[in-house]
Amino acid sequence: MEKILIVDDSAVQAERLRSILDDEYEVTVAQTAEEGLRRASGENFSLILLDVVMPGMDGFTLLKKLQEEIITQSIPVILITSLSDASDEQHGLILGAVDYITKPFNALIVKARVNTHIKLYQYRRQVEQQSMTDQLTGIANRRKYEQYSITKWGEAIRLHVPLSICMFDIDRFKVYNDTFGHPAGDKVIATVAQTAASYLQRSTDFLARYGGEEFVAVLLGGNAEQVFGYLRKIRQAVENLHIPHDPAVGKWVTISVGGVTVIPEIERSYDFYLKIADTMLYDAKKHGRNRVVWADERMKQLWEK
Ligand code: GH3
Ligand code: MG
Ligand code: MG
Repeated sequence: MEKILIVDDSAVQAERLRSILDDEYEVTVAQTAEEGLRRASGENFSLILLDVVMPGMDGFTLLKKLQEEIITQSIPVILITSLSDASDEQHGLILGAVDYITKPFNALIVKARVNTHIKLYQYRRQVEQQSMTDQLTGIANRRKYEQYSITKWGEAIRLHVPLSICMFDIDRFKVYNDTFGHPAGDKVIATVAQTAASYLQRSTDFLARYGGEEFVAVLLGGNAEQVFGYLRKIRQAVENLHIPHDPAVGKWVTISVGGVTVIPEIERSYDFYLKIADTMLYDAKKHGRNRVVWADERMKQLWEK
């Protein structure tokens, strides 16, 4: 059930709205703008019905605050007010409200408008989700990764927690395609992605297809030794799938892994460390593939094998 937040100082009006909507939606009522803001940031609402005239912070001010916050700015807001003045309506729409309902309202119209905006919101979320997902593997795509890495880099600096960046790449994959064909290669890419994903399931783990047969993972927390150990497990798990490779280059399909663990600082950029992860991957390839090479917090290299 989609969730709707009603922010209204009048308990009578809020209850009336609730009774119109609560057979189809999970409805929450906040009686002040402050409470509305708190709830909107903490819960996943698909729509906010917002009264304009309230004591203390009014609806326009709350709307502005909702628009400024990353977590709440995409939630559609319908303003509800007895102000029938056209300039108020204009003001609300300029501030970012998706619609405007004037009191006294008609239950059928309220419901119809709410349904429409909920449907649009669902559709938008679905399109956003698809645009962030890699079709072949079902994991995050490059676009999602770019967004995620920027956000997490900022977060890690703020919280002062270690961040690990990991690149990995399927070994001798051109030969695999040449021997077994492109469709078989696609299956391998998807299987490798699923295997890695099954190990990276914590809310602080992130995995994306970087491009072709190359993947990137970003992990929060954990020191270099721990994350290095974890990536060795993933590398081993891929080898243990026992997907036959062209015998000329290897028995099974394997991956090479490069990574770095850092305590992020403002002076350095994320890309600086991404390049280090890429260099570690290059070293893993150069020294025989099917191995993990890691750079720790002091840029000392950790080698598998
Ligand atoms: P290395 O061990 O050094 O990584 O060798 P490699 O052959 O894997 O590396 P290279 O970069 O030369 O070749 C990558 C190959 O991956 C070339 C391309 O045919 C294949 N590839 C890239 N994307 C896809 C894809 O989406 N599907 C399939 N089947 N193959 C892909
Ligand atoms: Mg490769
Ligand atoms: Mg490659």
